Amino acid sequence: MNAQWVRFAQEIGIETCLTFDPKLLTPEQRIRGLCGEDKCGNYGHHHMCPPRIGSSEEAKSRIGMYQNGILLQYSKPLDVKNDREGLKQSKLDFHEKVLQLEGLLRSDGIEHPWGMIGGSCELCGVCRVDEPCPYPERTRTSLTALGIDVIALLAKCGLDSEFHPDRITWTGCVLL
Ligand code: SF4
Repeated sequence: MNAQWVRFAQEIGIETCLTFDPKLLTPEQRIRGLCGEDKCGNYGHHHMCPPRIGSSEEAKSRIGMYQNGILLQYSKPLDVKNDREGLKQSKLDFHEKVLQLEGLLRSDGIEHPWGMIGGSCELCGVCRVDEPCPYPERTRTSLTALGIDVIALLAKCGLDSEFHPDRITWTGCVLL
């Protein structure tokens, strides 16, 4: 990977920045099924969550167009169970960092880099599916929403996937 990209990622606070093969991203109906249980309330109520983002087959074919991937993780110390505002802010911060990295890749001539964020997009606070998304250029989906088993992916990449009550870790990627 371009050393400048890694340096940039580190400078903006992304601690994990690893190349990986996008073939490791296999959208699974099993994970989609968990979204269908709608424990988060986003199923059908979020522009960037299932079923609005298309089928897992469509996700598979879009992922298949990419040759390389950069896996990203951003952590923030906080009380995960009680600090809802801190949690939301850290998610927004990670979203911004993914967009920043995408921007650098574009400026280096990479066409159509595809960033994925951690969790559902919260750029608007509450996603309004009865209206068009006001930020189509800035919103992104998550690996989980595409049907990817993120815990299995982290294990394959040798990364920690444990829950830590005093630290939130967001996982995303950019495909190129
Ligand atoms: S930018 Fe707003 S409307 Fe668009 S997906 Fe994110 S929260 Fe929903």
